[in-house]
Amino acid sequence: MPSPVGHALGGLIVGLALNPRTLGTLGTIACAAVFPDVDFLWGGHNRETHSLGAAILAGLVVLAWTRGRNPRLAIAVTLAWSTHVLFDWLGSDDTPPLGVMALWPLSSTFYFGDAFVFEAISRRYWLPNFVSHNAWAVIKETLILGPPFLLLTALRWRARRRSRRPGTT
Ligand SMILES: [Zn+2]
Repeated sequence: MPSPVGHALGGLIVGLALNPRTLGTLGTIACAAVFPDVDFLWGGHNRETHSLGAAILAGLVVLAWTRGRNPRLAIAVTLAWSTHVLFDWLGSDDTPPLGVMALWPLSSTFYFGDAFVFEAISRRYWLPNFVSHNAWAVIKETLILGPPFLLLTALRWRARRRSRRPGTT
């Protein structure tokens, strides 16, 4: 299961793909991708917050918060939250129950992709490889998610420069 760095990159990729108007909006979308790990606070990582149901609920909260005026942001928040569910499903996990409760509230089954695309972030700080393992996990996430993030950033940057050039509309 990726670190906050990997999850934030997932949110930024979604945000950049949907062309947010401000950096604040992009930051909000990135936070939505990290937010499902709030369940660490009550010691239950990978349960209800790690579901597509929670992703839809988050979008509905944004829709209500903006009084229906920003459905685009609501969709972005739902998609960014969903990347967290996807990445944790694709990641390694060594703490049972393995996987995520992806289809909550329809089902409380835990789904595990068995794909090991991302490393599991270790919280066992007493182990000798704690720092090296987590450093490798963050590097691997960055190597996987960095290129699409940089490509989208470059495309947005180019589009913005073109739209600001005199004589263009
Ligand atoms: Zn998570």
